[in-house]
Amino acid sequence: MRIAIFDDHRVGAVEGDRLWDLTELVPGWNPELAPYLVNHFIGAYPERRDAIAGIMAGAEPLPLDSVRLRPAVPRPTSFFAAPLNYRAHVSEMRGPLASGGGTARELGFFLKSSSAVTGPADPIELPDLPGRRFDYEGELVVVIGKPGRAISRRDALAHVFGYTLTVDATLRMTETQREERTYRKSFWSFAPLGPWVVTADELPDPTGITVEVLVNGERRQQAALADLILDVPALIEQASKVVPLQPGDVFATGSPAGVGQLHAGDEVRVRSPQIGELRLAVTERDW
Ligand code: MN
Repeated sequence: MRIAIFDDHRVGAVEGDRLWDLTELVPGWNPELAPYLVNHFIGAYPERRDAIAGIMAGAEPLPLDSVRLRPAVPRPTSFFAAPLNYRAHVSEMRGPLASGGGTARELGFFLKSSSAVTGPADPIELPDLPGRRFDYEGELVVVIGKPGRAISRRDALAHVFGYTLTVDATLRMTETQREERTYRKSFWSFAPLGPWVVTADELPDPTGITVEVLVNGERRQQAALADLILDVPALIEQASKVVPLQPGDVFATGSPAGVGQLHAGDEVRVRSPQIGELRLAVTERDW
């Protein structure tokens, strides 16, 4: 199942180029609360599956290109992210982009602001910081569905609602400007999520997922989840020892090698044959 958020944060199911409106399955839905109610819908998904199938069998779908896709998870409860979780990326970060030693295994997670999240139709907006460098990091994102704490590796995948994609956009440090990671990765639009969530029942083994990044049509990054230093169960195990996980938490799994600069005017595409494509313009921020 592909669960998409569209227009004024309505909930839909996508198949091919069609979308079924599932919003009647969100109790108390209204446009002001809608972004937050998505997390509740995610938590209740196991009990909604029959009703979703009923709507898809009986209701008239909309053409997918007639709606505006919104962030796949508009207000993540927490936006966790793994630093340095592919060996080849660890090596490149020991070079001119060095950010200290260690991998996700030793460093744990960092957080991005949930308020930085934007959707598949929104550009990445670069703030006006003369002389500073912004990078793309194309990453697979795990969306948590079932709450829990101290989740064991063995049980971890049962807590996954599904998978989506992000560009973990980043302001790089310099020799003299060494801001906190959360600050550098939380500029608005630096945490796009989409194009939708593919539910975990379709991807029972995430190690088969691959992700690639193209900038202006040129391939820059390629990742196989099988190459993660901390795999998806290990990321869930590690984070859930720190804080209880909630439906609507998201976890960016880390960037493969090949990070590079973003410039206004670029087009960055993160795509996965198992999930879909997040295709984003890059612009200068106008505020
Ligand atoms: Mn990253």
